[in-house]
Amino acid sequence: MADDIDRANDQAQYLLDVALHRSRRVPSTRVSAQFCEDCDDPIPSLRQQKIEGCETCVPCQELREARR
Ligand SMILES: [Zn+2]
Repeated sequence: MADDIDRANDQAQYLLDVALHRSRRVPSTRVSAQFCEDCDDPIPSLRQQKIEGCETCVPCQELREARR
């Protein structure tokens, strides 16, 4: 379970890195939200550090990805 989450996070980070390299207009450092944009729950600081520019908590991120 934890491994699956780590793998998903690594993949998200990889896709983010690719996106950042493709668009030079995006600042190299993005500030992560402290509270989830969708449900206003506090985002764990580890997640904020690990996922640069994250906007949502883990469950809401999964919901966003499921909606795509
Ligand atoms: Zn949330």
